[in-house]
Amino acid sequence: MSEFKLTGGCQCGAVRYVLNAPPLMAYACHCTECQRISATAFATSCVVLQDTMQIEQGELSRINWTVESGAHRYGEFCKACGVRIRHGSEPSQGIYSLRSGTLDDPTWATPAAHTWQSSALEWFTPPEDALLYDGQPTDYAPIVERYAKLMELG
Ligand SMILES: [Zn+2]
Ligand SMILES: [Zn+2]
Repeated sequence: MSEFKLTGGCQCGAVRYVLNAPPLMAYACHCTECQRISATAFATSCVVLQDTMQIEQGELSRINWTVESGAHRYGEFCKACGVRIRHGSEPSQGIYSLRSGTLDDPTWATPAAHTWQSSALEWFTPPEDALLYDGQPTDYAPIVERYAKLMELG
């Protein structure tokens, strides 16, 4: 196995986690739900394989909700300070959407795409070369590919 290691945690320091593989991609989502969840203009997330992420310390609390399609989603956050760490689905799709502002090295959070431009705040101007989507992407391959290029993952 590789010796890849990426660390992160919450604001108060109670929750610490380790990733032992690079994220599959990073993106910024401008949907109204992400605006509410992140309490700001948009959310930046990294998609990581579940078995590459270990919670090393601290306790996560969970909130569940159902999206329009009927899928069950959950968010996990630090029990002590409330910082959102990651999202997942039930039944599991094998991935977490990691809130990438929790990474110690935010380089890995560089968004390869900006989704839900239809609800982006009007002052937001996307980077010139960004992949843009009006809503939810139906094909993630271009985002994965662009992210690998940005991160020089070969
Ligand atoms: Zn905390
Ligand atoms: Zn969103």
